[in-house]
Amino acid sequence: MNNAELVKRDLSVVWHPCTQMKDHEWLPMTPIRRGDGVWLEDFDGRRYLDAISSWWVNLFGHANPHINNALRKQAETLEHVMLAGFSHEAVIELSERLVDVAPPGLDRCFYADNGSSAIEVALKMSFHYWRNTGHNGKTRFITLENSYHGETLGALAVGNVELYKDTYGPLLMETISVPSPDCFNREPGESCAAYSERMFSHMQRALEQHAEQVCAVIVEPLVQCAGSMRMYDPIYLKLLREACDRYGVHLIADEIAVGFGRTGTFFACEQADISPDFLCLSKGLTGGYLPLSVVLTGDAVYQAFYDDYQSLRAFLHSHSYTGNALACRTALATLELFEQHDTINANRLLADAMAQATASFAEHPHIAEVRQSGMILAIEMVRDKPNRTPFPWQERRGLKVYQHGLDNGVLLRPLGNVVYFMPPYVISTEQIDMIAAVARDGIHKAVAD
Ligand SMILES: *Cc1c(COP(=O)(O)O)cnc(C)c1O
Repeated sequence: MNNAELVKRDLSVVWHPCTQMKDHEWLPMTPIRRGDGVWLEDFDGRRYLDAISSWWVNLFGHANPHINNALRKQAETLEHVMLAGFSHEAVIELSERLVDVAPPGLDRCFYADNGSSAIEVALKMSFHYWRNTGHNGKTRFITLENSYHGETLGALAVGNVELYKDTYGPLLMETISVPSPDCFNREPGESCAAYSERMFSHMQRALEQHAEQVCAVIVEPLVQCAGSMRMYDPIYLKLLREACDRYGVHLIADEIAVGFGRTGTFFACEQADISPDFLCLSKGLTGGYLPLSVVLTGDAVYQAFYDDYQSLRAFLHSHSYTGNALACRTALATLELFEQHDTINANRLLADAMAQATASFAEHPHIAEVRQSGMILAIEMVRDKPNRTPFPWQERRGLKVYQHGLDNGVLLRPLGNVVYFMPPYVISTEQIDMIAAVARDGIHKAVAD
């Protein structure tokens, strides 16, 4: 089997995610034969350094021996059992560990099998909590502009990336959308913290006006990843936590992308020293191995559902693969790796290396900003730097960087005009230099003419 043969078979039966399939008339797809650490290898024997962790899921490399062993052992004993009326060791151990590492007060784990489903769970649970406690007027959600929470209809409704959302508008519940604290839009000379704090006035006003109808505010703490890796200051989360308490509104933290060390702390919320009412996790949860997600919440929410069956207060939500044993076991193995390698501390060196490798990029006439939050580094290309005028999306400049990357052994998959690194934590500083060099040349090519 070589690439060409597999691509031919693929294109006759597979419909790929987030893809205009017609692009594949001229844009080759890459069938992957095997993974090893940061590397992916195709069927023609070419290797690609996975600089974006296969869409932000992989933490400790592909085909990680420790996770493989855990998975193998679990497969030999129990692959899956339904979680209603039944339980298993892996889900119990994982829940204990998650409660240990989560911000204080989050001591209940409700499982689903992907990020979007976790968002649905949190939205439904918040709404249902308010019903169970006699607040029937609470039916709405506040979201930030430029936010992304997934693709199922509820998750899509609370997101704000037009590209993914607009078409489905008629199917989506209406939300209250508030300008983002995204620091890219700060005034020259203004600090990120000052800007994020200033932007909180919009949230304050929305809560003031609508709190009685609002179940929850949902945010991606610190980095709006799918929204072009835009970043904001922890002060915003602090203010938001205080305001949610003051107005009697839940706070949902979607750490599906930023959890598990991506922003430099284990959870992004730690940087604001806050606990949300609901913490949604997926992606890195299983180290990039298997689909699994979890919503952590606290006793106040749990108790509002805990009653005699006849009261009909129970949360009757489930998925077939809720709490899958194989997935839970890979998640436990992933948490073990964090401990064994002192990953959060070790990542500081890698984050510094990413900063150093891109230190000169900001001088480039078509790079408006290089921004970083821990293990996420983003480079924003613009047509006109002084005015920060973006390249028109139709020009697909980012795609040119993607193609250059593949030609040079690095998997970069820019979001529009934003090139970013979000590598597995097993990357070396030399490999960081390599992805930076390839990105630099790719950007150079992409902005020409
Ligand atoms: C990826 C993502 C989701 C959706 O997760 P899926 O597993 O793709 O459904 C939700 N929120 C954020 C912040 C994400 O990055």
